[in-house]
Amino acid sequence: MASSVRVRFAPSPTGYLHVGGARTAFFNWLYARRHGGAFVLRIEDTDAERSSDDMIAGILDGLRWLGLDWDEGPGIGGPHEPYFQSQRFDRHRAAAAALVAGGHAYYCYCSADRLRQERERADARGEAWQYDRACLSLPSQRIAELEASRAPRAIRFKVPPGQTAFADAVHGRIEFDGAHIEDFVILRSDGHPIYHLSVVVDDVDMRITHVIRGDDHISNTPKHVLLFQALGAPVPRFAHVPLILGADKKRLSKRHGATSVMEYARQGYLPDAMVNFLALLGWSPGDDRELMSRRELVDSFTLEGISGGNAVFDTAKLEWMNGQYIARMPIEELAALVLPLLAREGLWPEHAPADERLRRLIELLRPRAKRLSDFVDQARPFLVDTVEYEPEAIKKHLDVPGLSEHVAVLVRALRETSPFDEQQVETTVRRTAEQQGIKAASLIHAARVAATGRTASPGIFEVLAWLGRDRTVRRLEQLVSFLASQD
Ligand code: GLU
Repeated sequence: MASSVRVRFAPSPTGYLHVGGARTAFFNWLYARRHGGAFVLRIEDTDAERSSDDMIAGILDGLRWLGLDWDEGPGIGGPHEPYFQSQRFDRHRAAAAALVAGGHAYYCYCSADRLRQERERADARGEAWQYDRACLSLPSQRIAELEASRAPRAIRFKVPPGQTAFADAVHGRIEFDGAHIEDFVILRSDGHPIYHLSVVVDDVDMRITHVIRGDDHISNTPKHVLLFQALGAPVPRFAHVPLILGADKKRLSKRHGATSVMEYARQGYLPDAMVNFLALLGWSPGDDRELMSRRELVDSFTLEGISGGNAVFDTAKLEWMNGQYIARMPIEELAALVLPLLAREGLWPEHAPADERLRRLIELLRPRAKRLSDFVDQARPFLVDTVEYEPEAIKKHLDVPGLSEHVAVLVRALRETSPFDEQQVETTVRRTAEQQGIKAASLIHAARVAATGRTASPGIFEVLAWLGRDRTVRRLEQLVSFLASQD
């Protein structure tokens, strides 16, 4: 039986999908999938100046990359179309009129000037000003005059007195006093609906049962609860999820590094790792599991598992997690992701499939890779014709007396090594070092510089075996020439 759970992600397209939004979207998605409900995507593009099609496309791309498929929304439609808030203004205006008709809202003719002056006067007294309900009980004669003169009128919600409460799935019971909420505008005098009205009317129309959104909306929720009640609609269950902070405990922002989800895609993070990481930002399965597949996350997700405390975005943990996903990925899948990155750098022919040798290289590099982009960097010396030596490697490993002679002897020994596999290569290198009366490490480091140009690489014997005899010999000979040129 289809469940009645209906949740929504309602981004304002004034920026790309950032990690906070992605986490909110993911929690909604998890909840919908857990309960066999519907995940609705609604674009809240009411701020025409700050919203753009580019941003909308960016948000959709981010959600698709993360694998968060929506059941209703842009691109696929659904029974509650349209899913763009800006196309629903008529609904919002009709609801505002209905609220007036029902006595839950009233026309306000106060000019912006008057409101500003009142606010400034209160400020000067050190008091906060709340709308004084000047228009709540205008005599009908006065209303007739104002209407006759076509005075601009906004619509204000008439906040009922007394206590109202809602049960937040994360924070528990939250109570508020109507006396502290002013009669807020729901429709501007130019006919533009205010966010509080739009969001509630859309949630009612779309039959939303659970509102899972950021903590920054907690202060709006009392107004929303009152609006749901005034509209005669069931109040959805709320779950306000904690903010995401940077390592310095300040709200996550660009200062902390990438905040756009697609930036993580570009940096070589895997969507499965990213969602696993996002899930644990403020939620826990109740045990110490960390690496969890989507299936496991869906099976374990509860709103009660969301913590009230703020979550810290730990990039090192994300890297670690990504490395774990890379380590566990089937090689074919991994190769398919790495290949285009190599091709882009000219390290592999465009559109050529992975061969056995490339797959072995990826295996070789896999244990040290934390991001897909690491493969590109690490694979470079293996896939170019001429290795460039990093200055640090030269300084650290090539300053050994008589090294060029030792390497030349190693070249001769490796020509005779058969089979040219990891084990035999190791035996040859160690035996040569012994014969030459030097430490094996000296020869190993030199061979690493010859083979990769670097101070660090996967196990050198595996590396040489992967290169094969011809390439290994050529690279060692290049090193001999290089050392000669240094003398
Ligand atoms: N559009 C709002 C935002 O992006 C979200 C509204 C909501 O989730 O209720 O902050």
